[in-house]
Amino acid sequence: MAHTAPQRPLPRSASVIIVGGGIQGLAAAYNLAAEHRFGDVLVLDAGYWQGGASGRNGSLIRGAFGTPEWTGLFRYSAEQWRGLSKRIGHNVMFSQRGYTMVAEKASTAHTLREARKVHAELGIHSELLSHDDIARLLPAIDRGQVSGALHLPDSGIAPHHAAMKGLLAAAREQGVDIRYRTRVTAFERRDNRIAGVWVGDHLVRASTVLVAAGGHNPMMADLAGVTLPGHGTRLEIMALEPLRPVIRPGLAIIDSLCYLHQTPRGEIVGAAEAPESPHFTLRTDIPVMATTASVYLRLFPQLADVRILRHWAGLIHATPDYAPLLGEHPACPGLWFSAGWSYGFAGGPGAGRLMAGAIATGTIDPVMRPFAIDRFDRGMPLTDPTLVL
Ligand SMILES: Cc1cc2nc3c(=O)[nH]c(=O)nc-3n(C[C@H](O)[C@H](O)[C@H](O)COP(=O)(O)OP(=O)(O)OC[C@H]3O[C@@H](n4cnc5c(N)ncnc54)[C@H](O)[C@@H]3O)c2cc1C
Repeated sequence: MAHTAPQRPLPRSASVIIVGGGIQGLAAAYNLAAEHRFGDVLVLDAGYWQGGASGRNGSLIRGAFGTPEWTGLFRYSAEQWRGLSKRIGHNVMFSQRGYTMVAEKASTAHTLREARKVHAELGIHSELLSHDDIARLLPAIDRGQVSGALHLPDSGIAPHHAAMKGLLAAAREQGVDIRYRTRVTAFERRDNRIAGVWVGDHLVRASTVLVAAGGHNPMMADLAGVTLPGHGTRLEIMALEPLRPVIRPGLAIIDSLCYLHQTPRGEIVGAAEAPESPHFTLRTDIPVMATTASVYLRLFPQLADVRILRHWAGLIHATPDYAPLLGEHPACPGLWFSAGWSYGFAGGPGAGRLMAGAIATGTIDPVMRPFAIDRFDRGMPLTDPTLVL
């Protein structure tokens, strides 16, 4: 099969195999090679470069949420984003345009005020916006619909093609062997430990395997004989035809489960989630488009005559609390996951570095620890009131 045929012979062994060459896999691979000097890191991806969610997302990078755990992880990742171009020697085009969380309901405005206290305790710069601030930052929004807004000046946007290009090049420069169109079809286990992966009838041995397969993570877990909470599902997003700049920061409209930003080209890219049962397909559908259009019309009336240019979908792994699952699987030593990502583009550079450190040293950073795979078994979910998924 075309998808399982490697371009050149695969090695018989590697020190670490990473399953999935999206932003999570590439960021972990780069850090294993560059920071921890792993000699033979092998990345295997079933599809094409940027074919996963890392090449299909909204490009928003949020550095704080409503809880200390989410904020700790994403603050760390936003810091990584700000220094990433310099660190890896490739321009990932991070633009520190800020990110604003908008409340329509009074109760959500209260949630944002509470989030502000969490940020203050963690020493994070965030600002509750006045009506005048909102008029300046978001001239297009109908301020009558807004009951509160919290702005994160250190957050921003990065076009995913630039980030993925930079990470791919940087990882290869560090000697990482990256193969696209190379599907992992099975996992090898010996004495309950991970011992490698199979690509068709070829076994690559490794005592450490990191699975970062996006929406396919639950299926990968099944293949490896372990379980992961959550399910694969589709997210959709759309781009409007270009117009003059009307929205500067990234935006989350919390009560409408909507996120959007305006690209330098003038397109407004974003979506509002519609109540649907999960779909595991890249086909797009009407409900998300219709819901997004109605949220835009309510909040940004001047978009009424702007047409939809494109509409596409990507696959993610949604966990019961929408928080990522990070770490070694308790039922299989040597098998690590960077899974369950709904904000995995924002989280990529941070989680990649933390994951590489955990694999290399065996020590889990306190920022990563709350996201352990067994947190549901321990009754420690990470629900956050400021999510828009
Ligand atoms: C429409 C949409 C909008 C989004 N907007 C944002 C946003 O604005 N900000 C944000 O932070 N996040 C956003 N996200 C989420 C974000 O894109 C993902 O969380 C992130 O890209 C996940 O990265 P990943 O590397 O884990 O997965 P992916 O990028 O999906 O990569 C996984 C890779 O695994 C490969 N794979 C699967 N099965 C196998 C196998 N058997 N063998 C080998 N390889 C395999 C796939 O081919 C794929 O390339 C959005 C997602 C979507 C779909």
